Amino acid sequence: MLEASLELDHRLELDRVAQTMLAQRPVIAFTGAGISTESGIPDFRGPSGLWKRTAPTGFRDFLQDPEIRARYWERRRERYPELASKHPNIGHQSLNEMIQANLLDLVITQNIDGLHQKSGVTDDRIIELHGNSHQIRCLDCRTLFPADTNEIPLDAPVPDCPRCGGIIKEATISFGEPLIEEDLRRSLRLAEESGMVIVVGSSLTVNPASRVPLVAARHGATLAIINNEETPLDRYAEHIIRAPAGASLSYLTRQVMAGS
Ligand code: NAD
Ligand code: ZN
Repeated sequence: MLEASLELDHRLELDRVAQTMLAQRPVIAFTGAGISTESGIPDFRGPSGLWKRTAPTGFRDFLQDPEIRARYWERRRERYPELASKHPNIGHQSLNEMIQANLLDLVITQNIDGLHQKSGVTDDRIIELHGNSHQIRCLDCRTLFPADTNEIPLDAPVPDCPRCGGIIKEATISFGEPLIEEDLRRSLRLAEESGMVIVVGSSLTVNPASRVPLVAARHGATLAIINNEETPLDRYAEHIIRAPAGASLSYLTRQVMAGS
């Protein structure tokens, strides 16, 4: 069994996380790229990080330079089909199981891969702080289109908005692009009100997203961090589990279910 790969110390710590989850509602899971590496999607800062190979496009350059937009769309045409073919892993499935059993209240994710929803999490139980690759947004009229829309000629070198002629882009937050204000505000408010935040697979180095667990801890929530490496918020965390996300969440789910 996958969970058998977890060291005893990790299991004991996860037992304590399970007890806190049952005692301190609401409970929020805050996830990052590390929860999806076991689905075959490289993370950002891990050893074989995705964009160590190609630098991501900055928002300002994207707006100002049509050539950069052309390169952006070329890269999306190359990469999106692979991302779209990925499946949720045991980590996503475990979080969804806890949500369905009403033992976990919300997922706030920095991921753009849509795998939480593919595992069954409904839109009312997730906030995607960095948007979603499976949608395209017009930066002018703000219309959202599904990635498989036939309203947009997606094979054009630089496609435009079919409604207003404006600049369109994957509905994800690029470097230098502001987050959707309402999503961030709501996340921070829910963090303030939470009893526990469980961070999974995030280096917690991307701002302002990493303010979510920080604000929660400052308002008295218990912080648990499941991550392969150290993070800058480790000193605020009551529980640190330096182990793979999938096995950890699968074990945690079993313990919470057993204790409920
Ligand atoms: P990050 O890449 O900065 O950090 C990921 C962390 O997860 C690392 O500390 C790594 O050691 C750890 N990790 C990797 N695999 C793990 C596993 N199986 N178990 C436990 N820990 C594991 O990710 P971030 O903090 O989410 O920030 C990256 C930014 O890039 C985010 O803003 C995100 O939007 C974007 N991004 C998204 C995806 C995705 O949607 N899947 C992938 C890459 C990058
Ligand atoms: Zn438009």
